[in-house]
Amino acid sequence: MRGMTAAYTSELAEALSADVLDRLLRYVRIDTQSDRAHAQSPSTPGQLELGRLLVEELHAIGLSDVAQDAAGFVTATLPGNVDGAPVIGLLAHLDTSPDESGTNVEPLVHPDYDGGVLALPRRGTVLDPARMPELVPRIGHDLVTTSGDTLLGADDKAGMAEIMAAVAHLAAHPELPRATVRVGFTPDEEIGEGAKLFDIEAFGASCAYTLDGSELGEFTDETFTASSADVVITGVDVHPGFATGKLVNAARLAGRVLAGLPAELTPEATSEREGFVHVYSVEATAGKATIRTIVRDFDDERLAQHVAVLRRTAEEVVATEPRARVEVEVAHQYPNMRSYLDRHPGVSDAALEAIRREGLEPTHVPIRGGTDGSILSARGLPTPNLFTGGHEYHSVREWASVQDMASAAAVAVRLAGVWAERR
Ligand SMILES: [Zn+2]
Repeated sequence: MRGMTAAYTSELAEALSADVLDRLLRYVRIDTQSDRAHAQSPSTPGQLELGRLLVEELHAIGLSDVAQDAAGFVTATLPGNVDGAPVIGLLAHLDTSPDESGTNVEPLVHPDYDGGVLALPRRGTVLDPARMPELVPRIGHDLVTTSGDTLLGADDKAGMAEIMAAVAHLAAHPELPRATVRVGFTPDEEIGEGAKLFDIEAFGASCAYTLDGSELGEFTDETFTASSADVVITGVDVHPGFATGKLVNAARLAGRVLAGLPAELTPEATSEREGFVHVYSVEATAGKATIRTIVRDFDDERLAQHVAVLRRTAEEVVATEPRARVEVEVAHQYPNMRSYLDRHPGVSDAALEAIRREGLEPTHVPIRGGTDGSILSARGLPTPNLFTGGHEYHSVREWASVQDMASAAAVAVRLAGVWAERR
């Protein structure tokens, strides 16, 4: 038996690692940042460019039904080789976050990380294990970082590279029993749009997995349940010189509403399974004030209670001034995927089994956010989330471990095998 480098979780992972890294370095150089201001799909042309590259590569691997549609979705099929095995999906998103520059990404590979501070060449960006404890167990790993002034785009091009390396490996090894694997790359996840347009019926899988998580071994079948809630206060605007007894200042009422919201119900004061009301924007004049919030929890009833706290606070403040009016506009954003996944326990079980076969003990992490799987699960395609090995997403400090990415690709290979046994 050939000796294995210690940092790899299996010989399979080691065998996949060079291909995963190659692909990641290729994909991150294409700027695919999504744009909230554009309503068409995809929101930016770079996502089509990356999609075209993926189409070429999927053909080269030998997959069938390779297609890219006008909205940016790329799909392909790796036919199974076991009679009666189900069709499963592997998904990653094409776009990167609008929160930090994704232009001219120049990835750097740091072989055999020594556990020290990594100083990147631009903008004084530093990766310091004292502040980023996830670096500490990565001594001996090969790390991929940015040059310091862009995001890396491992979110979610690590997931994409892992899926591509996994299906390439499976296609080259027909002796490995596998379910039929449908591959899907989706646009505009970061702006919450792509999954709404995904053609689940045409995709034809009975379940799917996003590779869009982070820490090695992590598995997610639970996300926030999410609403937005805007408080709109209408005052009475009068020229201040003639305002005596007439002006009703909406901006000042908004200030009192903000002061009245419970300080313990904020993102900065909550963690783990606690929900919050997050004020992210306030626009106010004397005549009109709008407080925009997002409200989050893991439980629909508690989510409704948080919205009720916001509503009651706003109404009580504004009730002190009978000439002012207040409206609270609540919109549902995405559900906790858990309630949908609970109806299909085999989907999560298969993922946990694949992670264990890679020699890892799965960790169950409820995501304080949403994934494409939140929307897809609610729309009828059960879709939990697997780790990718990337960290510090949406920032110039984003990094990924080659060894952990290889483990994620190996988990994807093993998942096709687990499902081949479930006829
Ligand atoms: Zn992502």
